[in-house]
Amino acid sequence: GSRRADALSASPHSAGVIAFNWCVSRTLPALRHHNVFLSSAGRTAWARATSPGGLQRSPNFYVHVPTRTDASAAPAGCESVMVLVPVANLQEMAAAAGMPPLHLARHEGGCTSGGDGIGDSGGGDVAGTNATRLAAGRSGGGTGAYSALVSAAREAVLQTLADAGVAETVDSLRASIVRELVMEPEGWAARYGLSHGAAFGLSHGLGQLAAFRPALRDARVGGLYFAGASARPGNGVPLVMIGADLCVQRVLEDLGKQGKAD
Ligand SMILES: Cc1cc2nc3c(=O)[nH]c(=O)nc-3n(C[C@H](O)[C@H](O)[C@H](O)COP(=O)(O)OP(=O)(O)OC[C@H]3O[C@@H](n4cnc5c(N)ncnc54)[C@H](O)[C@@H]3O)c2cc1C
Repeated sequence: GSRRADALSASPHSAGVIAFNWCVSRTLPALRHHNVFLSSAGRTAWARATSPGGLQRSPNFYVHVPTRTDASAAPAGCESVMVLVPVANLQEMAAAAGMPPLHLARHEGGCTSGGDGIGDSGGGDVAGTNATRLAAGRSGGGTGAYSALVSAAREAVLQTLADAGVAETVDSLRASIVRELVMEPEGWAARYGLSHGAAFGLSHGLGQLAAFRPALRDARVGGLYFAGASARPGNGVPLVMIGADLCVQRVLEDLGKQGKAD
């Protein structure tokens, strides 16, 4: 049991993500409901950054603006914005630091929230000032391994959005963010129990696809079943729902067999 768990834990996991949840005190009409920004750096931009140096000046990221289709998501004249930046998961962070994989205890919190927003600090090194304040205000512990990456990712996203004409300048965009909640891989691991803080569970490399992915019914322990992102058929809400349905079918099959035997 524990050897199997250790083997699964050591298997390659999907990317971690830094999520920026922003309350913006203006509208950003250039943004749609779903927005994908792809780096001009091509394939190299998909390498998962473990430090600011690994992040492209203009990285790949996704922006969700629910206010574009649901006015109730923010007060009138404001926007609710969520940005997802893929980065290294905790397994990859540990490997880059030459450490064994991190095992984080499950605990409440693990995300950081800047109640004053990030625009209130004025000019200068706003990101650095804010990162310090956010780190000081961490609600759930964590090692702070992602602090520098969070600051760098925020700056890269703001710059890319400004370059794309979403706001007049980086500073005006930054100043309009009145509240921010950041969730990074340590937060995902602590709050939702995501293994290695990986957003999509086990990765989908060839060695972990189809029959090579953990089965829904354990081969050795009767009555033990698996459903979810790291089991077959794979991650993402639609596949997880299919897997859950297939898992229930296995359970019913086994109960049926048991019923006949009894
Ligand atoms: C930021 C982000 C964006 C995503 N975007 C998309 C998307 O756009 N489309 C898409 O299809 N998929 C998306 N996904 C992936 C999708 O959310 C997952 O693949 C899917 O939710 C996995 O389902 P699951 O049931 O395996 O795990 P989860 O949805 O994580 O559910 C597991 C539940 O178990 C709870 N739990 C964990 N450990 C314990 C414990 N010890 N005791 C009690 N409860 C526990 C957790 O709190 C959680 O509620 C995204 C994931 C992330 C992180």
